[in-house]
Amino acid sequence: MDIAGRSQDAAPSGNKMTFRELGLSEKILQAVEASGYTEPTPIQAKAIPVALAGRDVLGIAQTGTGKTAAFTLPMLSRLEQGRARARMPRTLILEPTRELAAQVEENFARYGRNHKLNVALLIGGVSFGDQEAKITRGADVLIATPGRLLDFSERGKLLLTGIEILVIDEADRMLDMGFIPDIERICKLVPFTRQTLFFSATMPQEIVRLTEAFLHNPVRIEVAPAASSPAEITQVLVASRPGADKRETLRKQIRAAANFKNAIIFCNRKRDIAILHKSLLRHGFRAGALHGDMDQRARMVSLEAFKTGEVDLIVCSDVAARGLDIPNVSHVFNFDVPTHSEDYVHRIGRTGRAGKPGTAITIVTQLDRRHIGDIEKMVGSPIGWRAGANLEDLGSPEHEEVFRPQAPQGRRLERRNRPEPHKPRDAGENRRPPEPQKPNGEKAERRAPALHRAQSVAGGRPVVGMGEHTPSFMLRPVKLKSKVAEEAD
Ligand code: AMP
Repeated sequence: MDIAGRSQDAAPSGNKMTFRELGLSEKILQAVEASGYTEPTPIQAKAIPVALAGRDVLGIAQTGTGKTAAFTLPMLSRLEQGRARARMPRTLILEPTRELAAQVEENFARYGRNHKLNVALLIGGVSFGDQEAKITRGADVLIATPGRLLDFSERGKLLLTGIEILVIDEADRMLDMGFIPDIERICKLVPFTRQTLFFSATMPQEIVRLTEAFLHNPVRIEVAPAASSPAEITQVLVASRPGADKRETLRKQIRAAANFKNAIIFCNRKRDIAILHKSLLRHGFRAGALHGDMDQRARMVSLEAFKTGEVDLIVCSDVAARGLDIPNVSHVFNFDVPTHSEDYVHRIGRTGRAGKPGTAITIVTQLDRRHIGDIEKMVGSPIGWRAGANLEDLGSPEHEEVFRPQAPQGRRLERRNRPEPHKPRDAGENRRPPEPQKPNGEKAERRAPALHRAQSVAGGRPVVGMGEHTPSFMLRPVKLKSKVAEEAD
């Protein structure tokens, strides 16, 4: 077994398990064999027998460990008996993003090739009509994102009272995206007697609370500590100055990358994805983009172009790329250092999958120093710098851009895939103007802002802008480099 996840208590080598020993039906075994799998991954070896026995499962595993088959194979086994009724699906899988939902659907098509199953996908951004028709016909498997599922249920188009197995996948990402209240509501709509298979890469307190409320005496299965990074991935740090220099650093790294086939490039902010994407195209790279504000069709087209090799670079946000199973990604570039160290582990896990080697290159500016420390703590070892490109080689930090507070942008801005409610504030807005100082160091009296002065001059009458008091220096013409030219450099 050479897939990314290693079980903490996996069977010792020499005593390897086979799929046949897990208790799966002949039809399923044939489909697994046709997929080219020779032996179960640790999460499959542990979870499948437990799920087949009807027990609840609490699986702590990240993507890349084979966890999708760990829940789809026992579900198929259960679905071999019985039939779906109109509007009453028999099993339900909840996924945080549309892409993950579509990916699970592909898995059902692959492993369920010898079964005649109706699989319905309920995701946002796709017309209600087709989805409704499938549900009305009767779905054996319903794969859904929480928002669209609740929409259907509230319109009376779907009854969840026939659910026999509920799968909650990527629970920690659901938490990041603000879906936990929706999950709680859904758990109350499905029968108490259903079986629950629950998967999360990490177990923050809110997730523990959720499992205590909705799982019945689950068997806990943990593969590879959530915070570790797959050993097959070569990790490198490259120092850079910010702004246009950083884009140049990225281009150099892409051009110099050994064994390069394709790469996922991560940015922290959607705005930067657009800038970087445009810049890469301008420099002749074949690149696509993927983020939560793109409509469903555009996201699918982008992803498909990357999967088929039509483009070999895709610039992504965390939410859009989380859990995507794109085989054979040779490189991951962190254009921005993630502010949450767990995101680092998830990002680099897009490469080095299924035992294939991968390289993760992270571009670091002086301002990222603290985050790198946190990431190294999380992965448990220092990450090496590319020769001649560490932060000391850059010289003093005074060349860095002004401090820009990095609140949890990526997550907050992409929450529930809605457009951001307000524009991110610019650096200047977040900083208080410095206290004016007299030459001798004493604090000078802060002068009233221009508008207030103008109002007092106008004797309380409303004044537009600066009234007649525009300072003359503001009327002098200045030459500025075009912002667009600067940004897409
Ligand atoms: P997942 O963690 O479910 O996203 O799976 C990660 C990748 O591992 C997918 O490309 C699967 O097709 C592949 N995979 C799943 N189970 C096995 C297995 N037993 N042997 C080899 N590859 C597998």
